[in-house]
Amino acid sequence: MKSWIETPTNSDFTLYNIPFGIIKHNNKKVVATIIGNTVINLHALYNTGLLSTTYGLHATLFANDFLNDFIAEGKAITNAVRTRIIELFNEINTEHRELLQTCLLPVNEVQNCMPVRIGDYTDFFSSIDHATNTGMMFRDPANALLPNWKHMPVGYHGRSSSIAESGINFHRPKGQSKADDQTMPIFGACKTLDFELEMGFIIGKPTALGDSITTANADEHIFGFCLFNDWSARDIQKWEYVPLGPFLGKNFFSSISPWIVTIEALAPFRVQSYEQTPQVLPYLAFEGNNNFDVNLQVFIQPENSTEKCVSESNFKYMYWNVNQQLAHHTVNGCNVNVGDMMASGTISGPEPTSYGSMLEISWGGKRSITMNDGTERKFIQDNDTVIMRGYASKNGIRVGFGEVKNKVLAAK
Ligand code: MN
Repeated sequence: MKSWIETPTNSDFTLYNIPFGIIKHNNKKVVATIIGNTVINLHALYNTGLLSTTYGLHATLFANDFLNDFIAEGKAITNAVRTRIIELFNEINTEHRELLQTCLLPVNEVQNCMPVRIGDYTDFFSSIDHATNTGMMFRDPANALLPNWKHMPVGYHGRSSSIAESGINFHRPKGQSKADDQTMPIFGACKTLDFELEMGFIIGKPTALGDSITTANADEHIFGFCLFNDWSARDIQKWEYVPLGPFLGKNFFSSISPWIVTIEALAPFRVQSYEQTPQVLPYLAFEGNNNFDVNLQVFIQPENSTEKCVSESNFKYMYWNVNQQLAHHTVNGCNVNVGDMMASGTISGPEPTSYGSMLEISWGGKRSITMNDGTERKFIQDNDTVIMRGYASKNGIRVGFGEVKNKVLAAK
């Protein structure tokens, strides 16, 4: 299956993908998708009449600052729109091309915006290698995982106001920290700024207060996925996190890739989930392949230098899958809303080259890695740009996420 829109080899945005996002064009925000390096303005496409009116679509779904209203229409509609786009832009369809051309924009002429008005945001801690590594560093190497870890997908409620899109720069956070050899804390700019390589997903179907999502119906509640960088201030986090967990070490900034890839587009890349021992409680039991084989990479680009790959991981390394995360999150009756965001937690693999944070790559600041300009990094420095990319590929089919890329400015 190929599009008549030119699609470069290794493009993340093939006809199999058709993700959804928000672009700004002529000072107006609209819903859009992308094929190759060409953005399709879906408001313009709606106005051609070619999306068909049988779905009960209306213009405000596409002339909109966010995807929330479109997503809230439900999968019957969002999937029908995606299927129709695939049909219209498939090379086997030679009809309406002149009219369809009027909806196309080169990707470098549009600005990607925040795709979703995020409601509540939850961050999990679901990679066993990440949890083991941090447990070894901060607690007891012989008992790295806390007693609850293999019995529930541990998580915390984060803050949505500071989640921004790729391309947004931010200032190094300031806060309290306390060195191990000091008795008093100090206030100042974070010294150990870090990234966390994560995947996020967006809730597409709400639940009522008191209701629970099961592992069997969790897929129906997931609209799609994006790359997620959970920027972390390690020194602030270390001093503040006991007893209530992450706070100012996390809520200063998080960033996402701008195109939401539907769970349907990721279906060909489902793989067997982690073998879980000991056996989980019945509400966390599941059937089917609920992990996804998505290659993930992290690059650091110092100012005036080129990007250096510092991690190659994979979404398939998750111990707890997204179905279990949603089942656990709602088992107590906690409701979810369209536009809520859940993040996976740092995704580390078993090899040091697959660790998803500088905390693990530098093993708590004990080792450094050399950038392409010869400078060394244990954590992220001012004016560094961190780039995360992700894609799935199988039998010649590629579906990718593009990138999330942000630059760290000096503390304000
Ligand atoms: Mn995190």
